[in-house]
Amino acid sequence: MSQYAGMTREQGDNQPICDLRSDTVTRPDAGMMAAIAAADLGDDVYGEDPQVNRLESSLAERLGKEAGLFLPTGTQSNLVGLLAHCGRGEEILVGVDYHVNKYEAAGASVLGGMALCPLPIAEDGALEADAIKAAVKPDDSHMAVSRLLSLENTHNGQAVSLARTQAAADAGRAAGLAVHLDGARFFNAIAALGCAEQDLARIPDSISICLSKGLGTPAGSVLVGPADLIARARRWRKMLGGGMRQSGLLAAAGLYALEHNVDQLGEDHARAEALAATLRQLGAGTVNQASNMVYFTPEDGRHAALQAHLADSGVVIGAGDSGPIRLVLHRDVGDAGLDLATEALQRFYG
Ligand SMILES: *Cc1c(COP(=O)(O)O)cnc(C)c1O
Repeated sequence: MSQYAGMTREQGDNQPICDLRSDTVTRPDAGMMAAIAAADLGDDVYGEDPQVNRLESSLAERLGKEAGLFLPTGTQSNLVGLLAHCGRGEEILVGVDYHVNKYEAAGASVLGGMALCPLPIAEDGALEADAIKAAVKPDDSHMAVSRLLSLENTHNGQAVSLARTQAAADAGRAAGLAVHLDGARFFNAIAALGCAEQDLARIPDSISICLSKGLGTPAGSVLVGPADLIARARRWRKMLGGGMRQSGLLAAAGLYALEHNVDQLGEDHARAEALAATLRQLGAGTVNQASNMVYFTPEDGRHAALQAHLADSGVVIGAGDSGPIRLVLHRDVGDAGLDLATEALQRFYG
């Protein structure tokens, strides 16, 4: 039986009512579909797609960077960024559990001949300046050439503070490293920190931003940074098969999201807080919440039973056999979805 069986919102709609597995499950709403339908298109590999050009230049300008590049995924956006920063035999310092190190199939090593040097991650999601300093290699023919520091914000929902991000970047730069930020959820970080977008954007040289998570587009990421770096990244994107022709359909969704969906991320964070409060009230396990994510470790270990119970109520979660369950709030959950999840949890643990 399909995991979505019995969860349909209406006839012909296979979307679960409340899918808490990830913010990547978000679907374009009517406004975004209208923007997609209205998009004037061209061949982006010829540089002729107006939507893509507008998205790349406007997001770069918004964040105070020289240029932008539209890519199909965040993984490819990080990868072309790393390839544009580093060459064979060079090394990237990165948090051990950061996406670039753990969840991108070692693409930088496989396709770029680069070494990934994993560093421990502090409680707040940051990399410690001392750990960065200690990991940078001396100029020694035995060793890789340390070239890049790759940060992540948010990390597991945690928004790393401006001060801690700056301290890590300063430590890297003092050792001659360039700085990349995997800002898949950059705008969640901004909402959580309550700072101006450029306050965070000015710290790294390059930033990769996902449009397909909390911002709600079907696909797409943007890499922003210095013009020469983005020009090299563009060549890598073509080589990796990421030149997408009339990708203005997706870029139009991105432009719409950047105009309409950024301010609403705070509502996802508030709903995550409310869900965390419910779980704490129920006293059923350990709860950690940051920005749009809740990590819940049920004390009784009945992960499968909880998942099945919630599924019966139209609430989808991704629970393993043990350990923390990640619950992600996003624009397609809304207040109705939150109520559904809250009531179902109260029935299970009440
Ligand atoms: C989602 C994500 C990415 C990119 O993932 P794609 O699925 O390739 O778009 C990169 N970094 C982080 C931290 C992410 O959460």
